[in-house]
Amino acid sequence: MAVAKVSLLDALHEHFGFDSFKGNQEKIIKNILSGKDTFVIMPTGGGKSLCYQLPALMSPGVALIVSPLIALMKNQVDLIRSYSSKDNVAHFLNSTLTKAQIKKVRSDLTSGKTKMLYVAPETLTKQENIDFFKELEISFIAVDEAHCISEWGHDFRPEYRRLREMIEMINPELPIIALTATATPKVQSDIVKNLELRTPEIFISSFNRPNLYYEIRAKRKKDLVIKDIVKFIHQHKGKSGIIYTLNRKTTEELADMLVANGIKSVAYHAGLDSTTRAGRQDMFLHEDVEVIVATIAFGMGIDKPDVRFVIHYNIPKSLENYYQETGRSGRDGLEGICLCFYSYKDVQKLEHLMRDKPLSEREMGAQLINETVAYAESSVCRRKVILHYFGEKYEGENCGKCDNCLHPKEKIEVKNRAFIVLKAIQQLEERFGTDYVVNIITGQSNPQITTFQHDKLEVFGEGKEFDAHFWNSLIRQMMLEGLIEKDIEEYGLLKITAKGNKFIKKPFSIWFSLNHQFDESDGGGEDE
Ligand code: ADP
Ligand code: ZN
Repeated sequence: MAVAKVSLLDALHEHFGFDSFKGNQEKIIKNILSGKDTFVIMPTGGGKSLCYQLPALMSPGVALIVSPLIALMKNQVDLIRSYSSKDNVAHFLNSTLTKAQIKKVRSDLTSGKTKMLYVAPETLTKQENIDFFKELEISFIAVDEAHCISEWGHDFRPEYRRLREMIEMINPELPIIALTATATPKVQSDIVKNLELRTPEIFISSFNRPNLYYEIRAKRKKDLVIKDIVKFIHQHKGKSGIIYTLNRKTTEELADMLVANGIKSVAYHAGLDSTTRAGRQDMFLHEDVEVIVATIAFGMGIDKPDVRFVIHYNIPKSLENYYQETGRSGRDGLEGICLCFYSYKDVQKLEHLMRDKPLSEREMGAQLINETVAYAESSVCRRKVILHYFGEKYEGENCGKCDNCLHPKEKIEVKNRAFIVLKAIQQLEERFGTDYVVNIITGQSNPQITTFQHDKLEVFGEGKEFDAHFWNSLIRQMMLEGLIEKDIEEYGLLKITAKGNKFIKKPFSIWFSLNHQFDESDGGGEDE
């Protein structure tokens, strides 16, 4: 191939002015240039774009780059053009172009001037475009933000699922490079299967963000949480930060509260019109405000390198979201503090939001939520849990940069108490939820309990020396341990798992750190 004559490093220097490759870039680029399918998993800021841009510039024909967001597409194209002397080296094709603009793009493509064409997945579904692409010389297809393919990812887009079908129509032989900044093992296998990647070479960079500090704080009364947040921000005066909340109303309330406390702050959510949103985003980027209080609507494509803290007022609905959102701090490699206020009430709120969804979605959602609960209530190094979630092993015992490593929690042996929980569930024939089971264990009678004569059960009141918070926490940790589970179909009924039955037959020693303060919250705002 003509490509081999120029060294990769020379090409890098010529096109981008960089002197060396970052991380896996060189290996990835070689793999693409050899025409093989490639899968790149690299955290944000790792330099993914260059992995397809350089080979696109070096290969005959044009590379098609599938990207989910029209706004990002334009930024990317502008950026490439700023590196190159020729404007037509990169184009995008989407619904925002006029007829005349489309004509120009097509003529640049036909004449072979364009090396990169950014397309939205919708563009590929149009037959006229497919017919046009069929006639072009295409070097390869890059699928950016490939996690959008998977329902297990944090940003599922159904149209991404049809990409393979479109590629088949254009040219089934085309090499594919899939790229994403986030992929759990489950999402990874979804991507490989769905795009039908042919024995792809997979390049995974570490997800560890060593400069980020992770901490979970118990979320108690709302005014206390706000006091806590205000105090924290005052301690970091003049620094940029993001606060994430679950709903729109809370963003406004919190922002007002911060302003009242002398902190320059605005709210941001999808309910605001686009001009207001863009204005507030700019205020944040230009540091006219210190803190932006936002829903998940804020973030995609925002690249402010010196965000010094991310506070979660509510626990997000998956660890993936948590990683992405906390990941917006410390992009410059300097300090990034990630605080999350956690209460089990917020988890119930997340569960409640899913109540009308179809069963399969509810099951999936419940599993994702359980993983965040496990994270929040765990006494293991936070970094270790996060990296484990992304299929990566954190070597080392103590990261020195998370609350659990800096302030290890006390643990107690709970074999006998776990046994009481299992006995109660068993005697209730697995037909009741947590609250009911806890009432039985603590011996709290109510009309329903007396009607069913459950106050006559042997286990009734057997655990009354501990309060309901204790038992709630224990039950959650037993769920995380896999001894019991919540039935999703019959919403919330506690069931004993195979492991739990084994435990009943032959109890073994278990140690739990009991975080019962997570139950003491008033919910911290009644966000729906
Ligand atoms: P990602 O898409 O993975 O978030 P980008 O492609 O936006 O990352 O790259 C992040 C930054 O790193 C960009 O500013 C880019 O110009 C820079 N960069 C990429 N590759 C190199 C390199 N080999 N040397 C120096 N800087 C690089
Ligand atoms: Zn740690």
